[in-house]
Parts: sequence; structure tokens; C-alpha cells
Amino acid sequence: MNIILLGPPGAGKGTQAGFLVAERGMVQLSTGDMLRAAKTSGTEMGKKVAAVMDRGELVTDEIVIGLIEEQLAGGEGSGSGFIFDGFPRTLAQADALAVLLEKVGQKLDTVIEMRVDDSALVKRITGRFTCGGCGTGYHEEFKKPVKDGVCDKCGGSDFKKRADDNEESLKTRLMAYYKETSPLIGYYYAKDQLQSIDGLGTMEAVASDITKALSKVS
Ligand code: AMP
Repeated sequence: MNIILLGPPGAGKGTQAGFLVAERGMVQLSTGDMLRAAKTSGTEMGKKVAAVMDRGELVTDEIVIGLIEEQLAGGEGSGSGFIFDGFPRTLAQADALAVLLEKVGQKLDTVIEMRVDDSALVKRITGRFTCGGCGTGYHEEFKKPVKDGVCDKCGGSDFKKRADDNEESLKTRLMAYYKETSPLIGYYYAKDQLQSIDGLGTMEAVASDITKALSKVS
């Protein structure tokens, strides 16, 4: 099954994608993670996108479509399917995804829109941080490590915050979402592929709503 998790920054797409990877063996394709990896490893592309990402603006369609094309062409994950997380973010990307999936003989099964209000997003995003060692995600208010300053999973003590998880970049990211990405809600609704869920509940409640949404198409 191939699905898109659609929602504003901080809606919980990455967290929920992580659950689906662990429970169903699906493959998460997060263009944000791919771009951050390119930025950290200092590739030419990474250098080109770094400032754009830090400001919270969208990277060009050409770059992100190329990243997804590479992954799909690699034939990974065709068994349990792909979770597109943070892609597509524009109508041009959505059209490109349809073409790329067709090329590899796959289809999109459903699009799950995770709805969360802006005020909750600011709180969620500005408080989040991850363990630099193993990537486990935490939050200053909602999910602190059991022992202050020590990762629950790997015992590491080097925590990181995303460069774009600040109020200024978040404003730009939210505006990019409303302007460029939210038209995808209508795009997929018109194709009868959209399901909307409340993204404001606990992680478990949202996961359960996603399970229900997936059971409708499997
Ligand atoms: P994310 O981790 O999904 O919040 O993405 C972080 C940043 O990467 C975004 O604010 C954009 O600068 C860039 N980015 C990620 N995915 C895309 C995409 N599909 N299209 C354009 N820019 C993207």
C-alpha cells in the first residue's frame, strides 16, 4: 500500500510514519530527511538548499522530484509500500508523483490529511529536539527523556534542534503550507483519495485513526 501523509509542519507526519515503518514494514520517504542528510554531508545539492531550508522556504520541485525518483527507481519497499512524508508539497510535485508511480507499476492508495491548528503547531515545533546519536524524538513539554539530558533509547547526551524549528522559520513554513501545499487537499479530494483525521489527539489516538483510514483501502 502506498500512502501520503499530508499536513502542516508539526502535524506529526514523521512520528506516525515511524510507527507505520515499525508495525508494517513500510518504507518512509521523507524529502525533509533526505534534504537534511544532503545538507549535513555537504553535497553540492545540500549546500544549495541549506539556506532555503533554514529560512523555511520550499526547495525547488526539480530537486525533490529527483530525490523521490531515485528512491522509487531503486525499487526499495515495493513489498509493504511507501509512506510519502512531506512530499508532495506542490501541485507540480503531486502530478510528478502520479507519473513516477505509474512508471514503476505502482499506485497511490490513499492520502491522509492530518489536521492541526496553528497554535498547537507553534508549541509542538518550537519545543521539539532529537537525540544526535540515535535520532529519537523528544519534546520539552510533552515527551522529555526519563532522565534529564540522557536519551532513553541509546543513553546518549548529545541532543539537537532543527535549524528551522524556530518561530520565524515556522511562520514561513506555515505560509508555504497554506499557499503551496493545502491545494493538494482539493486535488486528492477530487480524485476521491483523501481521508482527513484529527491530528490534535495523543500519538496513540492519531495512530489508531490512521489504522482505521488504512483499513478502508486495504
Ligand atoms: P520537513 O522535514 O518535511 O518539515 O521539511 C523541511 C524543509 O525541507 C522544508 O521546510 C523545505 O525547505 C524542504 N522540503 C522538504 N520536502 C520538500 C518538498 N516536498 N518540496 C519542497 N521543499 C521541501
